[in-house]
Amino acid sequence: MLHTRWSAEAWSQARVEFKRALSLRSETQRVGDSQRCRPSASSRGYGEAWRKIRDRILKRDGGFCVPCKDEGRMTPATMVDHIKPKHLSGGDDANLRAICRRCHDRKTGAEGRHARSSSTPPTS
Ligand SMILES: [Zn+2]
Repeated sequence: MLHTRWSAEAWSQARVEFKRALSLRSETQRVGDSQRCRPSASSRGYGEAWRKIRDRILKRDGGFCVPCKDEGRMTPATMVDHIKPKHLSGGDDANLRAICRRCHDRKTGAEGRHARSSSTPPTS
């Protein structure tokens, strides 16, 4: 009896310690976790894999919007764009570029006049 009660107390104490350790850890990971767990991203077909590709392309292009850079402006990129529609080119890195929201909206707006299709790049 005594022994059982002691282990229950020890166990609950251990659980408190464990929770504290977890909350400390999630403090530093919160941003990444919230992006990874966002249900809308995976329901659109863009999950962890896309996030990794996006990070890679943003890094490759220096974090600046490529179309803006072509016009001599240095605008921080917030997303990654398919240069050609995805169904024509696949998910090749060469077909991806960092882009800012303004250029992205301008581009998808123009594309929308031709065809409202599944080729619209992810907006997040
Ligand atoms: Zn731009």
